[in-house]
Amino acid sequence: LKNDQLDQWDRENFFHPSTHLAQHARGESPNRVIKTASGVFIEDRDGNKLLDAFAGLYCVNVGYGRPEIADAIAAQAKELAYYHAYVGHGTEASITLSKMVLDRAPKNMSKVYFGLGGSDANETNVKLVWYYNNILGRPQKKKIISRWRGYHGSGLVTGSLTGLELFHKKFDLPIEQVIHTEAPYYFRRQNLDQTEEQFVAHCAAELEALIEREGADTIAAFIGEPALGTGGIVPPPAGYWEAIQAVLKKHDILLIADEVVTGFGRLGTMFGSDHYGMEPDIITIAKGLTSAYAPLSGSILSDKVWKVLEQGTDENGPIGHGWTYSAHPIGAAAGVANLELLDKLNLIENAKTTGAYLNEQMKAALGDHAHVGDVRGEGLLCAVEFVKDKDSHTFFDPSEKVGPRISATLLEQSKIIARAMPQGDILGFAPPFCLTRYEVDQIVAGVVQAVETVLGK
Ligand code: PLP
Repeated sequence: LKNDQLDQWDRENFFHPSTHLAQHARGESPNRVIKTASGVFIEDRDGNKLLDAFAGLYCVNVGYGRPEIADAIAAQAKELAYYHAYVGHGTEASITLSKMVLDRAPKNMSKVYFGLGGSDANETNVKLVWYYNNILGRPQKKKIISRWRGYHGSGLVTGSLTGLELFHKKFDLPIEQVIHTEAPYYFRRQNLDQTEEQFVAHCAAELEALIEREGADTIAAFIGEPALGTGGIVPPPAGYWEAIQAVLKKHDILLIADEVVTGFGRLGTMFGSDHYGMEPDIITIAKGLTSAYAPLSGSILSDKVWKVLEQGTDENGPIGHGWTYSAHPIGAAAGVANLELLDKLNLIENAKTTGAYLNEQMKAALGDHAHVGDVRGEGLLCAVEFVKDKDSHTFFDPSEKVGPRISATLLEQSKIIARAMPQGDILGFAPPFCLTRYEVDQIVAGVVQAVETVLGK
């Protein structure tokens, strides 16, 4: 097929996720047809080779083009492309993967329920938390607290959990059972005089005030990403999770750690919960479980949650929750091969050391720039946040589109993909774990050039 034929069919037929509808209506929706990829590079049909410093949507953690995973998928498809996982049935791949996930999970975890993507896994989590409280005879304890700027998916419940306006407006969200509290975003704190320690105390106090206002007996769970992802790539200040967990324990509120981005190594540890000393009751996993070679997600349940669920509700009836594609054999085969590869190539260690190098180099190159307010990160997550004026801590007007312009310039000048995060002028990096120091140097040089082009020296 010729490119213009694909362009035409694309415009005529394909409603892409996150489409800018007004641009589409004006006939201005550019599309790049991606053809192949290897390591940290993707290649389009015109032969442009781009360094993908965002690993797709921070998911291709082991890097593109791994034959070990492709072969495992092909072998599984030939042997058994599909059978369901409803009770009484399993496949070697899905059963093996459940063991591999639990072997790697933080302590006190007991079972994994497989889904397709991060959104449906969080949907499962909310249903299970509600089921849990029904079994315990406290049906009024149902509200879920999430943070502003959290990202947990874009379904009706998960879009409600997501704390970004874009995912609420014109969809009549959030639903009433979801309430939001302050994000641990020290750089954007209201009171600039606060130390990190004071800010952490403030976040914990805000949470506690919300719980007291609503009534602890109405609140089932708190959900949070160990480090905020889509909301701006924001690692929490020291002591944040300790302070939050103390409040949750006091009020008998479950903790759901959404590790869709951080699970399986992104922060340089197997789980973000390990990294920050979190003791979640439920963990959401997706992206890094298969490095996106096939769709698969999961909800890892703690002993505490499982023991209650095990009591069930009805004498012999099954739980009314299941997807056709739960634990899909092809996703499971991809997951097994992916987790083996992470170990074999020591890729989590590389995420840690190369991630530290990326963050150091980015800070050294841009930290003093007049319009760079913050350079932050953890493991192979990094963000550069732009400000209009550093001293007064003022931000650019969103209409100036500073973040998107820098991202577009970086792509044009250096053929490097970094993501303009959806809220604020933030350039985000989350490269595959096989990234080298040489590629870090290329990324940093490209970003400096793009920033100087758009904002001056
Ligand atoms: N949770 C987090 C932390 C995410 O970053 C995402 C997606 O980016 C999701 C959930 C939703 O996952 P999915 O897009 O696979 O539904």
